[in-house]
Parts: sequence; structure tokens; C-alpha cells
Amino acid sequence: MALPFVARIADNLSDLRWRIASAAARSGRTAEGVKLVAATKYVGVSLIRELIAAGCQDLGESRPQELWTKSAELADPSINWHLIGHLQRNKIDRTLPLVSLIHSADSLRLIRSIDQAAAVLDIVVPVLIEVNISGDREKHGFTPEEMESRLVDINMFDRVQVRGLMAMAGREGDFDSTRRDFASLRELRDQLRRDLPDGMSLDELSMGMSGDFETAIEEGATIVRIGSALFEMVGE
Ligand SMILES: *Cc1c(COP(=O)(O)O)cnc(C)c1O
Repeated sequence: MALPFVARIADNLSDLRWRIASAAARSGRTAEGVKLVAATKYVGVSLIRELIAAGCQDLGESRPQELWTKSAELADPSINWHLIGHLQRNKIDRTLPLVSLIHSADSLRLIRSIDQAAAVLDIVVPVLIEVNISGDREKHGFTPEEMESRLVDINMFDRVQVRGLMAMAGREGDFDSTRRDFASLRELRDQLRRDLPDGMSLDELSMGMSGDFETAIEEGATIVRIGSALFEMVGE
């Protein structure tokens, strides 16, 4: 007999929370130090409602338009929306008022445009700087080598508040290289912290997805973005 959707999502969520807590413990931390952002690109609003009812209020969309649509349909002020994918500059104005965190600030040009739009809206926008840690050619983000000087540039935009770094492990990566990618992001963060421009913080490390979040947490992730592990088996 098939379980109802509600039970499966709630089960998947509690299973994930348990795995997150275990990985956090292995890195000498508690589950409170790791935020789960549910990547909702695979599902519609009815399943998202079940997820919210099960206790997950941080939702991430990789496409701005999808975020606009779903946030309008759900119209739920308790949701914290995260933009986790590439933001095109012509979509900034509509996206900024909806999101609690942009994980994917991936170029100086984009960050400058966010700053300008935020000034018009009279808001300050929390962002993570996306780093292309694996060097994959098709990935967005700053190179690790340019980060130190870029942070100085980014710090001039007072409507953009840098909270940390975001990255994905390399696509071709095996287990060891995935761990190495995550460790590199943490090491880059620690190195940048030694000479951080005033007013910036690099407390957040957004790294880890369904297939590698436990490794990411062991290497210091404070935010994991998880989709398929949360929704798998649902609706079968
Ligand atoms: C889809 C997506 C995720 C989640 O991926 P899963 O492997 O399904 O957990 C995480 N981050 C980004 C940027 C995504 O687009």
C-alpha cells in the first residue's frame, strides 16, 4: 500500500535531519549549525505545502521565474526563499523583494546591479559569493585566486551584504575530489577571513546537495541545498 504524500515527505525530512545531525556531530557541531534549504525545482506547490507542514520553511529555487511563480502561488510569509541558481540581471528587480538570501552572486557586474536595484528598493540584500572551486568550465562563479581582491571591490557596494561563500563540487568528481573541493572552499574562507574588509562576514558556507551533503557538513558546510533526497519516492 502506498503511503500518502504527507507521510513520505515528513519521513524523508526526518531522515535527512537525522543524517544532517550525525554529520554535524562528526565535525564537532550540532544540527543547529547547519541549515537545510529544500531545493524545490522538482515539485509543484502542493508538495511544497506538505514540506512546509512537515517543518521546512527554507526553500530554494534555481530559476528566478520559478521562484516568482511559486512564491506568488504559496503566498506564505513564513517561507524564507533562497535563490540558488544563476540570476540574470533583467530579473533582479522582481527577485530582490522575494528572497531572504541569494546564494549565487557570481560576477561583479551582477553584484553591482543588485546594489543599484537594492538602493531603489531601499533594502539591503544578503548574498553569498559563488566560487568556482572545482574549476569546471561550465560553472558560474569567481575563481578562488581572484577572491581576495574582489571582496575589496564588492565591499564598496553598501546595499549588498556578504554573508559567506557558495560552491558546488566538480561534476566529474569521485568521492575524494568532492571532499577536496569542499575542504578548499572552507580553506579559502579561512584564508580570506584573516584580512576581511570591514562589515563583511564569511560565516556561511553553502555547499552540499543530495549526493554529497554529509561530506560537505563534515568539511564545514553551514547550509546544505537538498532536492532529490527530500522528494524521492514521492508520487511513485
Ligand atoms: C537542484 C539544486 C540543488 C539540489 O540538488 P539535489 O542533488 O537534487 O539535491 C542544489 N543546488 C543547486 C544550485 C541546485 O540547482
